[in-house]
Amino acid sequence: MDELRTAMVGTPCQITAATKINKYSDITGGSPIDFKIGLFCMENYSYTYLEKFLNSNNIEMHEIKEFRIEKGQFIVYLNDGNKFSIPVRETKIFTRKNCEVCTDYTADLSDISVGSVGSSKGYSTVIVRTEKGEEIINDMINKELLEVGELTDSGLKLLERIANRKIHENQENIKERESVARQVLSQRHLSEKSAVTQSKDCQFNNLEADVINVGGCVLCGACEYVCPIDIIQINDRKPQLFGKCNEDCHACYFACPRTYISTDILPEDIDDKPLGEYKKILSLKSNSINGQDGGVVSGILTYLLNENKVDEVFLVGQDEDIPWKPKSFVSGKVSDVIAAAGTKYSTVPIGFKALTDRED
Ligand code: SF4
Ligand code: SF4
Ligand code: SF4
Repeated sequence: MDELRTAMVGTPCQITAATKINKYSDITGGSPIDFKIGLFCMENYSYTYLEKFLNSNNIEMHEIKEFRIEKGQFIVYLNDGNKFSIPVRETKIFTRKNCEVCTDYTADLSDISVGSVGSSKGYSTVIVRTEKGEEIINDMINKELLEVGELTDSGLKLLERIANRKIHENQENIKERESVARQVLSQRHLSEKSAVTQSKDCQFNNLEADVINVGGCVLCGACEYVCPIDIIQINDRKPQLFGKCNEDCHACYFACPRTYISTDILPEDIDDKPLGEYKKILSLKSNSINGQDGGVVSGILTYLLNENKVDEVFLVGQDEDIPWKPKSFVSGKVSDVIAAAGTKYSTVPIGFKALTDRED
């Protein structure tokens, strides 16, 4: 597996999980993820609460074609061509509880982060964070695969304002939660040594106590992916254990993005930097792919495959049985990237399971 090089597209919490899986590869077994594209993410939704809400508005899940967030509205597109929408600020009732303690809006640990906020229509805002990310974006611009648009001061300020709002609102939620329940471990900012000391004896039962049973699980699937004996299964609600742990295994606890994130992974003052640490921010659109928000994510994935910089990429497509539910899969074919280009790269719990479920 580790000879492969995979590019992933994911929410900030998934990007954190990928970072931890590879940082602690001697414990988790590592992953083939070699390039990380993070998506801006304000929150995610609980399908159970969402279903209840929609049912109360006379909409059944089987009538739904897709969900989108556009111009501050949460929009439900129906199979019959009609649509239903509410302002995003009113979606709190079906927001996942774990998102209320998350302070990462722009995926601080990605190679590049992409989102529509800050750019004009047809363009994406791209935050370039690593040397590898910079090399790729520069080469794509030089080869005229990406077109640079104007990133205005007001666009940048809007992006910072939204990222700061998430940080400050959720820091309040963290204080409130910690006053009545357990600490939010991912916000502890321990040194690398202390984080390892605190985690080294922990197994799935600790993950349950510290994350899953206290509303911290982001349903990323990292625990399921790293378990060497496949005894974790995730349904739409939570990871569950079906068997007895190996005595000396602590893989799931180290991989989880909601256990400790040590200060060598993210600096202690990260929440003072609303857009994280970065090299530059650009407004870009793809010249080769007509996708959502400028087709930048699909354009980069296509480039990575064509230039043999990775062997396979995470893609988001539709679940055949449940069309409204985006589903992730892994492919090494440019044709699959192009076919998926019309799909919104949405903030769904895509899950690392796709890496083990890859189609031959
Ligand atoms: S925890 Fe929620 S808000 Fe945070 S990155 Fe994950 S899906 Fe987005
Ligand atoms: S064996 Fe137990 S501790 Fe190890 S990854 Fe699986 S569930 Fe976690
Ligand atoms: S418990 Fe598992 S699925 Fe939940 S956040 Fe941690 S690693 Fe991800």
